[in-house]
Amino acid sequence: MIVANWKCNGSKIMIQDWISKFKETYVTSNNSYIGIAPSYIHIEHLSNNLKANSLDITYGVQNIDLSSGARTSAISLEMVQDMSCNFSIIGHSEMRIIFGETNENISEKLDLIAKSLDVILCIGESAEENINNQTREILKQQLEVINGRDLSQSFTIAYEPVWAIGTGKTPTPNQINDIHKFIKDVVQSSTVNNIVPKVLYGGSVNENNAQSFFNEDYVDGALIGGASLNGNSFAKIVNIFNGVN
Ligand code: PEP
Repeated sequence: MIVANWKCNGSKIMIQDWISKFKETYVTSNNSYIGIAPSYIHIEHLSNNLKANSLDITYGVQNIDLSSGARTSAISLEMVQDMSCNFSIIGHSEMRIIFGETNENISEKLDLIAKSLDVILCIGESAEENINNQTREILKQQLEVINGRDLSQSFTIAYEPVWAIGTGKTPTPNQINDIHKFIKDVVQSSTVNNIVPKVLYGGSVNENNAQSFFNEDYVDGALIGGASLNGNSFAKIVNIFNGVN
């Protein structure tokens, strides 16, 4: 599973260019779920262009709001479903840090969407927490939002150390593997149906380091920011994941 998080980037021209570059490089394979989370405003343009180019890429949103009505600037579950989005990212560190999203907000969002959309829940420790060896403790706290839930197999976690996002720094593949195993164990023991979720790694993944992460047993794919903005680079990473590079 490889998912692009375009954040607050993109334009209609960028999308056209992205698709032609993606097609130049992508080797068709049925191996993986490929997703893109564009800005809300570009969802329709992206979906029309994916369809016109017969690309089997799904799309979703980077966040979702709790309800509809008098909530200026918000996007509701009904709107997301109306645009045929398949998934929502929730709990991204930029939402937590810039927009003050709390575990409580994330839990309410899970109540709302977990049965309706594929969910990619982002968790990750800060640089300071990492240096102080608090990674597991912090992840466990962030994972409290899934306690006692009955989650479907389309529930996915993205492990994104905050200090690795957009910095060019990453944990070692082995460290990532250990943390992913830990996350799977915590989710399995916290959910009523004991699901073992897919765990994606996110944080400075690019075409040069992707293979080293995908070699690891507990890495089920990647959530990619910066390197996903170029169709060639993103396609290369998908090809690496699919073993067709
Ligand atoms: C992200 O913000 O989800 C992310 C993984 O960003 P980048 O790949 O740019 O580190």
